[in-house]
Amino acid sequence: MQLFLERFIVSSTPSWRVLLAVFASTPFFLVVLVGHGLALNTPGMQEALNPWALWPLEGWLALATLVNLITAWRLWPHRDLPDAVPQATLLVCLAIGPSFTLIAILAGTFTTALNLVLLGVLAIGLLLFERRPMLIAYGTCVAIISAHDLGVILGWWVYAPAFKGQVMQGREPVWWFHIWRQFAFVASGVVMLGLLGLLFDRLDQVHAKLRRLSYTDGLTGLANRRRAMEVLHNEVARQARTGQPLSLVLIDADHFKQVNDQHGHDVGDQVLRTLGSLLLACVRSPTDVACRLGGEEFALILPDTRLDQVEAVCERLRQQLARRSFGHGDAAFKVTLSMGAVEGRGQDVESLLQQADQQLYRAKSTGRDRLCMAGTSVEPA
Ligand code: GH3
Ligand code: MG
Ligand code: MG
Repeated sequence: MQLFLERFIVSSTPSWRVLLAVFASTPFFLVVLVGHGLALNTPGMQEALNPWALWPLEGWLALATLVNLITAWRLWPHRDLPDAVPQATLLVCLAIGPSFTLIAILAGTFTTALNLVLLGVLAIGLLLFERRPMLIAYGTCVAIISAHDLGVILGWWVYAPAFKGQVMQGREPVWWFHIWRQFAFVASGVVMLGLLGLLFDRLDQVHAKLRRLSYTDGLTGLANRRRAMEVLHNEVARQARTGQPLSLVLIDADHFKQVNDQHGHDVGDQVLRTLGSLLLACVRSPTDVACRLGGEEFALILPDTRLDQVEAVCERLRQQLARRSFGHGDAAFKVTLSMGAVEGRGQDVESLLQQADQQLYRAKSTGRDRLCMAGTSVEPA
């Protein structure tokens, strides 16, 4: 159920949401409508039920069913359009909300319990529908409940008017009504908690998604610069605590401007995406982080990794890239990388980056397509 709702929230159009509300509520209306109608015409039940309270409810439910069906009929052709449908939403919300409120009031539920359910429904409704129609329908329900409570207190009408016999003896309800009210209260609480649970789940998911997006580079799917800096700060702090090695590799594609100039920006983007997936494939441990710092510049953050191990990682990357060619036919071309690596030895993030950048600069200035590390330079075989 939750999975279905989750998918539905993410992928449905506003019209489909209204249609779902119609499909879910109309059968319920019909059951109550027919059930009450039968009960009012059954001799045994006639003694227990109040026709003056139930016939108007029957009229209201018939009207609500009609509103639902007409709205569904008119929405159906537009069900896949992405536009909001405020009028249809308002009509359906006004058909559903007050109907449930009236049924509950006539049968004499605790209005606190009813309010709980309405709050849960409001929470889910705000997720699925536009805000204004939901708030108008919720306001209407609250107004009905308040008017009911006030009327009971002032003695204008009786509590639970659907039942003919007195359901209250003094301040206490009769036993069966007591049980019914208790049931209504617990059921309402469960429904409300379920609905609120769905809402909070959804908010959690939205939060996680936003977090993922804010950490992800749109073109390559790698971690972005923001994430890279956060990881680097964390890892440097961890290294200071544990003394474990930590290596950083800065990577820059060679002559990338030429790639764009000669083959077009789209081909350039494709190269960047391929570089991204190669980088991801080359880091193995789940703690390693491959990121795109921007443009054609990437980084590998490798916790618990010494420089000699870095060399192996970079060599793997270089070899895999050397096997790829980009573009087609006569326009096929190769891409190479310059890399600068350092192993952290207690420096802060800024000096680590600076030292890696110096090594990268050394790789560029000594002919590109190579890895330079503090004290060494590894050229292509
Ligand atoms: P070098 O070997 O010295 O690094 O030369 P280069 O041409 O790679 O260096 P430069 O920094 O001058 O050029 C980087 C180019 O990367 C410039 C820009 O056109 C390209 N670039 C930056 N971001 C993107 C991007 O998102 N997509 C594409 N296709 N190209 C990009
Ligand atoms: Mg660059
Ligand atoms: Mg470059």
